[in-house]
Amino acid sequence: MDLNQIYTEIITENSRSTRNKRQLENPTAIIKGVNPSCGDEISLQIREKDGIIEDASFTGVGCAISQASASIMIDLIKGKKAEEALRLGEIFFSMIKDGLNDETVLEELEDAVAFQNISKLPARVKCAVLAWHTLKDAVSSEENCPEEAVSGHTAKA
Ligand SMILES: [Zn+2]
Repeated sequence: MDLNQIYTEIITENSRSTRNKRQLENPTAIIKGVNPSCGDEISLQIREKDGIIEDASFTGVGCAISQASASIMIDLIKGKKAEEALRLGEIFFSMIKDGLNDETVLEELEDAVAFQNISKLPARVKCAVLAWHTLKDAVSSEENCPEEAVSGHTAKA
């Protein structure tokens, strides 16, 4: 079996899926992410409670890669701690930007590993990472005051 073909199928299927493309009830954060180089736009909606991502969804338009990446990311982060979701994001960035290919680490990304080959297509990198960058702004990375982090977006060093 050709792995590249499987990856392409995962991306195509998820780009057409409407499973995670909906409005969320009572979101705690709605963050817009834009990739002007391709015309991708997503609006990520997160409902976070006690540091856990209870539910997530997105709306938007864009290329298959950007839309599939958002949908797959949501499958992966739902029900997880915000910190855990951000940690998975770091693995995703390492895979795409630095060519991380350690299989035991990449296993954690589940279907998101389908974007592995994007690391060889510089023009599409921004499409693949858009959702994950938007997530960074949407969830609180600090345990203590999620509300402040959601409304303020002030990066504390
Ligand atoms: Zn794109």
